[in-house]
Amino acid sequence: MRILLLSDIHANLEAMEACVAAAPGYDVVVNLGDIVGYGASPNEVIERSRQLGKTFVRGNHDKACAGLSNMADFNPVAGLAVIWTRTMLSQQNLAWLRELPAGPAFVEGLDGVQFVHGSPLDEDEYLLLLPEALTSMDYAPSPMTFFGHTHIQGGFLVGADDAATIRPVYETRDEQETFDFPLQRDARYLINPGSVGQPRDNDWRAAFALFDSDKYSVTYYRIPYPVKKAQQRIIEAQLPERLATRLSVGR
Ligand code: ZN
Repeated sequence: MRILLLSDIHANLEAMEACVAAAPGYDVVVNLGDIVGYGASPNEVIERSRQLGKTFVRGNHDKACAGLSNMADFNPVAGLAVIWTRTMLSQQNLAWLRELPAGPAFVEGLDGVQFVHGSPLDEDEYLLLLPEALTSMDYAPSPMTFFGHTHIQGGFLVGADDAATIRPVYETRDEQETFDFPLQRDARYLINPGSVGQPRDNDWRAAFALFDSDKYSVTYYRIPYPVKKAQQRIIEAQLPERLATRLSVGR
């Protein structure tokens, strides 16, 4: 089975469309959450996400924009974006957002694989470093977990006698590229496809990944997209300017 993994789209329609156009053939789309928040196209991105697939986990921004959590953990810029998003969402999309499930999610017929937003233990936990990742892999019931939330493409692995951080390596900063990562059957993995709509790994290109469960490999993608258009729409929407400027540096 070929699973297209989209995460942290954050209402960036321009980045999302570029990723969908660049995606190879797939059987199922799994969306790892943070569909909205930050970007200027929350309704369009929700509607497009629903067309693409039906497997979702909610993100912390989805919860906040749906009014299911307060914004205690949000910085002022993120909080303003939540308030803006709430006022823009249609009633129908707001209701849909409210019903999004907490992880882990599973895909029928795909054993040993789970999908979460933050970590296998806590949907709001940031897995940034190997020690935390190792702890959560110890507790994960599945050898393979796909996660988002950090906006950093890559992940972690633990084998029989080694553990490591995975970071894809690319040749350029501005072209469409892929990085193939073959998996080992006896290792445990946490794999982050990266953020479609607001990358924070110093690469402005939109990120996603494809998991091929038969070949047992992950292919990471970086896709240039009309970032100026996404930025202009954030400015026109009177969202905080920082949400526009950060897109072109990937931070
Ligand atoms: Zn996010």
